This record gives sequence, C-alpha cells and structure tokens, in this order.
Amino acid sequence: MSFQPADNIQDLQYFGEFGGVNPSISDSSTYTFLSAKTMFDTFEGNADGCYLYSRHSTPSNLYLGEALAAMEGTQTANVTASGMGAITPVLMQLCGAGDHIVSSRTIYGGTYAFLKNFTPKFHIETSFVDITNLEKVEAAITSSTKVIYCESVSNPLLEVADIKGLADLAKKYNLKLVVDNTFSPLSIAPAKLGADIVIHSLTKFINGSSDTVGGVVCGTQEMIDNLRNVNDGACMLLGSTMDSLRAASVLKNLRTLHIRMKQHSHNALYLAQQFEKDGLKTVYPGLPSHPSHELFTQMMHPEFGYGGMLTLDVGSLDKANELMELMQHKNLGYLAVSLGFYKTLFSAPGSSTSSEIPEDEQAEMGLTDGLIRFSIGLDNDIERTYEMMKACMIEVGVLRPAGKMETVSV
Ligand SMILES: *Cc1c(COP(=O)(O)O)cnc(C)c1O
Repeated sequence: MSFQPADNIQDLQYFGEFGGVNPSISDSSTYTFLSAKTMFDTFEGNADGCYLYSRHSTPSNLYLGEALAAMEGTQTANVTASGMGAITPVLMQLCGAGDHIVSSRTIYGGTYAFLKNFTPKFHIETSFVDITNLEKVEAAITSSTKVIYCESVSNPLLEVADIKGLADLAKKYNLKLVVDNTFSPLSIAPAKLGADIVIHSLTKFINGSSDTVGGVVCGTQEMIDNLRNVNDGACMLLGSTMDSLRAASVLKNLRTLHIRMKQHSHNALYLAQQFEKDGLKTVYPGLPSHPSHELFTQMMHPEFGYGGMLTLDVGSLDKANELMELMQHKNLGYLAVSLGFYKTLFSAPGSSTSSEIPEDEQAEMGLTDGLIRFSIGLDNDIERTYEMMKACMIEVGVLRPAGKMETVSV
C-alpha cells in the first residue's frame, strides 16, 4: 500500500484523562515529581513519558506533533509557536558560522528576509537560485553548503520544486533538504520523496480557521531530539513554543483537513480554468499551462488536488487594488494576507507578503505589480462565486463584457 497521509491521521486514537474522545489539555507550565532522581533524569532527557516544564514538551503538543508526523510520514515532529518559529530554529540548528545555504529564490517573504538580512549576522550566507533548475541548484553548492531549502509549492509564484531531484542532490553532497510544505498539505508528502525535514506554517491550511499562528518541524527522532536538546537545541533555547491550549485546538481542526483540501482544490481548479478561458494570465499548478503541471502531477496524492492557491495578473497594482476592494465589497472574500481560510483571501504580494524582496529582484523572479494571490475558500457553489467575481472584473475593466468588442489591456 502506498503512503496515505489522511488515513494515517484517521488511524490515530485518543482517550482523554476521563475517557474523553479528545485528549485532555495539559494546563500546566510545570510538573511535579515524586522523586528528585526522576526530575534529574527527565531534565537529562532520560525519563520517557515524564514532563518537566512546558517549554520542553507538553502532552498536548506531543499529540499534535505525532498527528502531523503521521501526516508527513516522518518519525516524529515538534510543534512551534509559528511557522517562522519552526523555520528559523531548523536553519540555526543545521548551520553555524561559515556555513552556506542554497535556497529557492521564491520563498515566503519572512524566510527570505531571515536568510538575506538576519543569518549573515551569524556568518551564514545564502545563495538564492531558481529551484526549478537543478543544474543551477547544483552549481550553487559549495564545500560550505549544509542545506538546500525550498517550498514544495512556492509563495507567491506557485513554482513547484522537484523534491526527488533535490533529494538526490542533497544525498550526493551530504546536505539536508528542508522543505516548507505549507501550500500543499496532504497533496504532497515531501519526506516520502526524500526530504530530510518538512516544515509547515500551521497558521494556513492545516489549522484553517485564521485564528492563530503555529508551526511544525517534521523529521527523524534524532533531528527533533537535537532541536529540543536542553543544552544546544534551537527550538528549546530560542523558545518559540506553542501553547497547549492552541495545540489542542489545532489538532481538532486537523481532523477536517482532508475534506477542506479537496474543496479548496476543487474550487481553485474551477476558477483557474474559467479565468484562463476568459483570457486572464492565470497561474495554477492544476492547469496544463503551468510549467510544472506534470511534475506536480507525478508527486501528488491526486484526491487532494492541486491546492487552493492561484494567482492572476491583472496588469497593474492600481487595477489589482481596485478589483480586490470591489470583491471585498461584494463579500467574495477578504483583502487580507495569509491563506487557508474558509473564505477566499486575496492580496497583492509585491506590496505585501513579498515586500521584503527588493523590486529589481521581484521583477527578475516574475513577481509583477499586477499580481493578485488568491487563497480560494470553501465556497459551496463555486460557479456562483465565479459569476460574481467575473462581474467585478468587468466592472473594473479587467475583463470585457461578453459580446462587446472593446479591447481591454491586461
Ligand atoms: C505563512 C508562511 C510562513 C510563516 O508562517 P507563520 O505562521 O506566519 O510564522 C512560512 N512559509 C510559508 C510558505 C507561509 O505561507
């Protein structure tokens, strides 16, 4: 049987302290011991099943971590207070002064800023490359390289990483392949394709209710133990610990992820097909016109589709802003950053989530002013949504009304 992430989540069984169907929430920052010896052993990491202090671990956080490890098919996982709180300790753990990272150039703005502006303070340098070009990736590897970093589907340009190809390179040069899988939970399982570490911002699809930030690092027991080590573990010492109450609520939302992803993907595919037919510049990995459509198709679990993210280029930032304001006014979604919500969210990444990236570099990577990033919601009747969106586009002049011959500049 091939790997099935949703079944792995389904197969987990929980019993709360009093027989509850949900695990009990741990509501303590510190834990008592009957013997001082056990306390010492716990601190050293030698007393399995004992808890000491909630920055180290909590029952609620372990439950969520184990569910996410089951989803990604890794030995274990460590949940964190945010996605950035997962990404930054992993990179600080794997790299020290003098080390080098090869990173995709199209990544989340916060990750880009961290690698571009922050890690150089610790003499960790990063080369940003076109991750879809394995020759360029290999050419950027030096004797100091420790990590290849990418997103399985990139933010915001929806480039798709060849995870198997990158994993082969990582093996050849003895590097760690770290993949941020935030845009494609369930659809893509990077660890099964050879990634060493898989990261998510739980803030997005996995939690799915835009009520909290959260993150996770999925990897081997050894890697996660290193991150949690009380003497030199970056998760432990940098302190981006998730709160237990949040871990419990994210775990409950995780249970509907498979249903939500199917609907996000179904809706996004429909809209992408229609908008492309209407002549709009549409980027969606589920469209045969997407340069990595075949690659995504080879890597994916088909039932979860190509994900909920798509981009449209409407020509200029002014047009993008006008359209987004109108769509919000018509209650088609929110003009907001982030993704994975039940309502559609839209933003212009060049002036928001990717504004950390200098304008000339934005241009080089194809991030244009008129680009709108959509996180398509769970709308029940997507055809109705499409008709309403199309009416907005006609109103702002991004599309022309059917049957009229005026030309529109897009
Ligand atoms: C949002 C996001 C992050 C950062 O996660 P936070 O939870 O906001 O810290 C990292 N990577 C990707 C791809 C994201 O979309």
